[in-house]
Parts: sequence; C-alpha cells; structure tokens
Amino acid sequence: MQVTPTGEPVVVSPRANPDAVDGRLNILGLDRIELKDAIANIGVPEKQVKMRTSQVWHWVYHRGVSSFDDMLNVSKDVRAKLAAHFIIERPEIVEAQYSEDGTRKYLIRFADGNEAEAVYIPEEDRGTLCISSQVGCTLNCKFCHTGTMRLVRNLTAAEIVAQLMIARDDLGEWENPTEGRRVTNIVMMGMGEPLYNFDNVKKALEIVMDEEGIQLSRRRITLSTSGVVPHMERAGKEIGVNLAVSLHAVRDDARTEIMPINKKYNLHEVLQACANYPGAHNARRITFEYAMLKGVNDSDKDARELVQLIRRYKLPAKVNLIPFNPWPGTDYECSEWDQIQRFSDIVYEGGISAPIRTPRGRDIMAACGQLKSASEKKSKAELLREQAAAAGAGSGVDEVHHTSTGLT
Ligand code: SAH
Ligand code: SF4
Repeated sequence: MQVTPTGEPVVVSPRANPDAVDGRLNILGLDRIELKDAIANIGVPEKQVKMRTSQVWHWVYHRGVSSFDDMLNVSKDVRAKLAAHFIIERPEIVEAQYSEDGTRKYLIRFADGNEAEAVYIPEEDRGTLCISSQVGCTLNCKFCHTGTMRLVRNLTAAEIVAQLMIARDDLGEWENPTEGRRVTNIVMMGMGEPLYNFDNVKKALEIVMDEEGIQLSRRRITLSTSGVVPHMERAGKEIGVNLAVSLHAVRDDARTEIMPINKKYNLHEVLQACANYPGAHNARRITFEYAMLKGVNDSDKDARELVQLIRRYKLPAKVNLIPFNPWPGTDYECSEWDQIQRFSDIVYEGGISAPIRTPRGRDIMAACGQLKSASEKKSKAELLREQAAAAGAGSGVDEVHHTSTGLT
C-alpha cells in the first residue's frame, strides 16, 4: 500500500476513464434544481421525483458514492434507470504529491485536457483545502507563478466542486462525514481570480454549503480576490463567505507595478469596496494578504502606511503576511526574516493583527502563488519538440495547447 511521508495510507478512489463519454450525463456538479430536472426527464414517476432527488443528492454529496448501485434506499428499478442515463464521475488526478509536512497537492485533469491544482493543508485545529477557480489567470501579477500562464479558461461549477470531492476521496473522509472531517475549511486561493468566474464559483459554493450535502458553513469558506471591485459587494450579498483581498502594496504606483489590475481598480476603490463589504464587522474581519517582497513592499514605512490605510477606511481587518514563495524564473526574492518580523510588529503595534503565514508544502511547490499546470511548466524547448513530434506524426491533437475562452 502506498503511504504518505506522514505515514498515512493513500486512498485514491478508482475512477473510470473520463473519456469514456457515452452520452450519459455526469451529475456531479449539478445543483439541486438541475438534478431534479434531470431525474424528472428520465421517466421517474412524477410523484417520486422530489424524494429521489433528495436521496441521490444525499448519496452523491453527503456520502461521496460514485455508483448508483450503492444507493441502497433507492429502489432497484430506479437505480437501473439512473445508471442508464447518468454517471457520477470525478475528473482524473494526474499527480498527487505529499509533502513532508502533510500538505497534499493534486494536479487534476479535466475532460478537455485542461489542468488545475488543489492543495490540502492540515493544521492542528483545521484542514484547509485551497481550490482553483480558473485554469491559469488573466491578471499577471508579477510575483505569481499562475500569473505567467498564457492560456486560461474558467472552471465550471462541477470542476470546482470536484476538487473538494477528490480531496475527500484521497483523505478517506466520506466514511464519517461529520465527526471525522478532514477538510474543515475551504479557501478560493488556488489558480485564478474567483470573481472573474463569479457565477460558477457561486454555484459551486452553494453546492458545498448545502445542508443535506457537504454542509460546509459559510464561515469556513474564504474567497480571495485581487480586488475586482464591481463584484466584491455581490460576493458578500450573494455568497456571504469571508473575504480576503490581495493588497501587497500601500501606494498606487507600487501596487500597479506588481499587480496590473491596480490600473483598473486602484487602492482607494478596493479599500472603499472593503468598507462596503456586507457583513464586514469585527466578528468577520476582512483579511488582507501581503506577500513580503524584498526591497519592494517590505519597509518599515510601508508597514506604518498600511496601518494608516486600514484606519482611514475604518476597516475591521487582519493582515496575513505571506513570505514570498519563489518559483523558477521569478525576479523577486523573499524579504529577510528579521524584516518580516519587524513589519509584523509595526502592524501589531498599530492595533491590527498581522500573523506571518508559515509556508506549507514548499518541497512540493504547493505554497501560495506556486501553482501552475504541469503542461504549462514545460520549457519552451520541450514544447517545440513536442509540437514538432506531433506535426511529424500527423496528429492534429496537441496536448500542450489549452483552449482559451475570453474572460470578462
Ligand atoms: N487570484 C486570487 C486568489 C489566488 S492567490 C488573488 O490574487 O487573491 C492567493 C494569494 O497568494 C494571493 O494573495 C496572491 O497574491 C498570493 N501570492 C501569489 N503568488 C505568491 C507568491 N509567489 N508568494 C506568496 N504569495 C503569493
Ligand atoms: Fe491571478 Fe491571484 Fe496570481 Fe494575481 S495573484 S496572477 S490574481 S492568481
């Protein structure tokens, strides 16, 4: 049996070939209304539709089954009907990496060949799953590995939910859904800008929060944005989860330099949107993420200005100081440890909590801003070689190319 570096057994559920599409609908990722409509359309007697929907929902999202045969309280003839029309199919795990510190990183390949990563981070009192919302990211923050990816598409709600299903499979979590929770928290902090994929992220989180399914409380879900101002209020009103905002600088010129989105929505607009965030009070503070970049944003003066900014907008906030995580080819370096400590002290002295986030899973490149799909990590030379080989073989399919859908 394969075991992790921390000695736990690796449980990866077997799954059928996702390419074996035979016209049956994959119900994983459908919301309740879609599932009900789907069940109504396959000839289940009308009187039973509501009950069957509840039963199937429970088995898929509360018990994690992937076969209709396991749905023991569903009559045999209905089970056969369901199996004739539907499948319950997770995307494929291309690679699962296990860090010395218990962090697990999953590279997931979706049906069209695109890939994204999810990361599980166990801590003493919680287990957090970091979920991706897009393949790549359109925003090109200079210090972020994901931001260097050329091509991107939004993930569907099903693909977002599937990341959690896969992690729970691997962690063996379905057997004891409430007592033995291992994924207690979710952060939308993987690849992509979740607010540029608003509808799918909202739908996915609604599925995850459903009381008869996975039952994760909105208090345990955090959505991180680089500051897409027009959608921030909507996120608070319509999804109601905790908000984290990537700040990373305290002056517009410095922020624009490292985060091009600042040209569109500047610091003032972002902080005003934070002040207007529904439910932003002390019990549910906004988290500001601040990556510590040596010589760029880490001076004592920056720390003092950060305190002033947060005060000026009267924000109930905490600051997460993230030691910069390097990646191949980056221009930046992580601030000196002493300087990170000083920065933290200054912000604390200003009355604002500013913990330093311990980097996790660095040995498997699973830390913040290091995620990138495997095919995108290939060098240019490798890509050219592969393209030449594919052309030579007369193959029209080039695995390296991802489809790009224009994002809003
Ligand atoms: N796109 C969203 C969420 C994903 S990134 C956002 O930008 O908020 C999660 C956090 O990691 C963000 O605050 C991001 O700015 C930060 N980050 C990105 N690259 C990093 C790196 N190399 N080192 C440290 N933090 C990084
Ligand atoms: Fe995109 Fe966030 Fe990375 Fe910026 S930090 S490039 S918004 S994933």
